Amino acid sequence: MFKKSNQLFERAQQVIPGGVNSPVRAFKAVGGNPVFIASGKESRIYDVDGKEYIDYVCSWGPLILGHCHPEVMKALRGVLETGTSYGAPTEREVELAELICEAFPSIEKVRLTNSGTESTMAALRLARAFTERPMIVKFEGCYHGHGDSLLVKAGSGVATLGLPDSPGVPADLARLTLTCRFNDLPSVQRAFEQHGERIAAVIVEPVAGNMGCVPPQPGFLEGLRKITTDAGSLLIFDEVMTGFRLAYGGAQQRYGIKSDLTTLGKIIGGGLPVGAFGGRKDIMDRVAPHGPVYQAGTLSGNPLAVTAGITTLKILRQPGIYDTLESRARTLELGMIQIANEANVSVTANRVGSMFTLFFTPRAGGSPPKRPDQGMGMLVTDWQSAKHSQVEKFGSFFREMLQKGVYLAPSQFEAGFLSTAHSDADIQETIHVAQQVFAGWGRRN
Ligand SMILES: *Cc1c(COP(=O)(O)O)cnc(C)c1O
Repeated sequence: MFKKSNQLFERAQQVIPGGVNSPVRAFKAVGGNPVFIASGKESRIYDVDGKEYIDYVCSWGPLILGHCHPEVMKALRGVLETGTSYGAPTEREVELAELICEAFPSIEKVRLTNSGTESTMAALRLARAFTERPMIVKFEGCYHGHGDSLLVKAGSGVATLGLPDSPGVPADLARLTLTCRFNDLPSVQRAFEQHGERIAAVIVEPVAGNMGCVPPQPGFLEGLRKITTDAGSLLIFDEVMTGFRLAYGGAQQRYGIKSDLTTLGKIIGGGLPVGAFGGRKDIMDRVAPHGPVYQAGTLSGNPLAVTAGITTLKILRQPGIYDTLESRARTLELGMIQIANEANVSVTANRVGSMFTLFFTPRAGGSPPKRPDQGMGMLVTDWQSAKHSQVEKFGSFFREMLQKGVYLAPSQFEAGFLSTAHSDADIQETIHVAQQVFAGWGRRN
């Protein structure tokens, strides 16, 4: 098992830093070497050694229709014959922009980019230009791509001036990013009491996915909306992960809150590189060439990428898709909790729509769970509580699931995704495999 993958990883490490083109792929958080993938079809991926897996990473979210959806493939083949890029406008870009504006009432105008990172970087520049203010508020545990202003961690205590989270991020820039605690409005209020007049925007994952899945508590997003409006700051929803994932109109449709700016990525490219940022017309009209705020991209609006996006969105627009995703994800969630409880493994499951994380949290105090849909673990509501997870246990779980043919995200602090290609049988098989893993743990104890 994994023979060719291990050989490829050796080769890769000679010429690529750490052997991968994005750090989480290296499996550092779970141990072992990464698996090199040869192909994918529907809910399955196949590694270079020929082993098959049920895939719950789905390219980290974009593949909501599964691998090689026939309609997406057909549309791509059609475009391929007409060229791959012109660096000039095409009709398809207009169509994707129209689809995005229709889906998100808060987005009146939108600019396409090539990645989520580009979108959040551009949204911050635009917010700073529009408000003529320098500071940004973000939340501990939220990830918004690798732009300098966003690779910032909290100083000592929340609502403090940021420190660089990576060498190479200038401390002078990090100081302009305030880090607050997710689901903690008082920490945001404190930030605004101290720096309100200087804060350009609050950027948030409306449902956090990058510390594992952590939903907003009732009132949190409403509170952010009010605090930013009162202070004359902008609210930026980073929906790179949640856009077209939690509902066709993203988290903002699900929770009924409008942001001023929204960043998108992942699903809108249908598995090819696309990002977008959009929002209120008066703000977006400040973007070049209409306005003075510079943003550009040689391959932005690329015909292939845009085509995969359009085709994906048109399929998602059909009735019933999100209901099916929701009910299958719920079956998976309930099944995993049930077998964990039966095996006396302490977990807590967080799920919104088809996005979920099984946290191996320590046992909550008090009596065992009263409801069958509760695990025995402590609740996870922010980065502080997520951090309590037993990452060693998750690592074992991940490796054993992988060997038995289930490919999970290789970190405790990532969300898993379901696609429309995941069948009820896939879900049952996954639960069955996890049950075998937990049974093995019981015998060892
Ligand atoms: C994935 C992600 C990004 C970064 O997108 P890339 O395309 O990887 O640059 C930004 N924000 C959120 C919420 C994401 O999940």
